Amino acid sequence: MTTSTEFFIDPQQGLKEDRVFIYHDKQLLVRGKNLYWSNSEIQHLLSNSHRPLLIDIQNRIRYLAVQFEKDVCDSIDAELVSLWKILLETDNSQFRFAGLGSQLLNWYNSHRFCGTCGSPTQPHELERAMVCPSCQLSFYARINPCVIVLVTRGQELLLAKHTRTRTGFHSCLAGFIEVGETPEQAVAREVKEEVGIEVENIRYIKSQSWPFPSQLMLGFFADYKAGDLRPDRKEIEEAAWFLPGDLPLGPAASISVAGELIALHLQRFGF
Ligand SMILES: [Zn+2]
Repeated sequence: MTTSTEFFIDPQQGLKEDRVFIYHDKQLLVRGKNLYWSNSEIQHLLSNSHRPLLIDIQNRIRYLAVQFEKDVCDSIDAELVSLWKILLETDNSQFRFAGLGSQLLNWYNSHRFCGTCGSPTQPHELERAMVCPSCQLSFYARINPCVIVLVTRGQELLLAKHTRTRTGFHSCLAGFIEVGETPEQAVAREVKEEVGIEVENIRYIKSQSWPFPSQLMLGFFADYKAGDLRPDRKEIEEAAWFLPGDLPLGPAASISVAGELIALHLQRFGF
């Protein structure tokens, strides 16, 4: 994007072609399979207190995100759907916009005031940032880096059921990278903390933006080195070694890097 891009849109300056994602109470307003709305459909609901944020521009079409404090489902014949449900049920390109819009609104809503002096912030004129007019600090949208790791022992996969699982799936181990850590150090620490074993040969595979609420997931493989499985019961309810032909219900490769790591391991052994 160039510096002349407008990241904060005046609600009166909507374009006919804009595609607008509407959020309320951390959910998205949708109609059937349509995740976004045209300006003409929602213009009557916008007031000057709304501040649509630019998600992206593709083929000269602006994709915007706007938050409504009130539930306006009835007035536009919409229903509220969670991002999580959208991830599971829609194609990836639409989910990318919906997820990014949610992250941007989260950031915008939590940076109305300067963290240093407490003054109300203002949108930056040129960049996607909020600025404090008193101390000139800029606040950019942030991501939180996390690691997600598939630990293997020969053919076996270590899969765990997380205590806060939304799906009931068994999946890879994951956690936030702490200040001062490399991603590889975070992998070794998280595995040790969550299930009590040591790993080696930690290698990066691929990454994924994960808007629940604002993570960058870095996906790794690691080999089992030593120790017995002892789930910590705080984050991990149960953890076990599984053979490729006998896996519990887990995430699909099409939606998450965890699913892709599992699929890659199975491919290696011809499954
Ligand atoms: Zn300030």
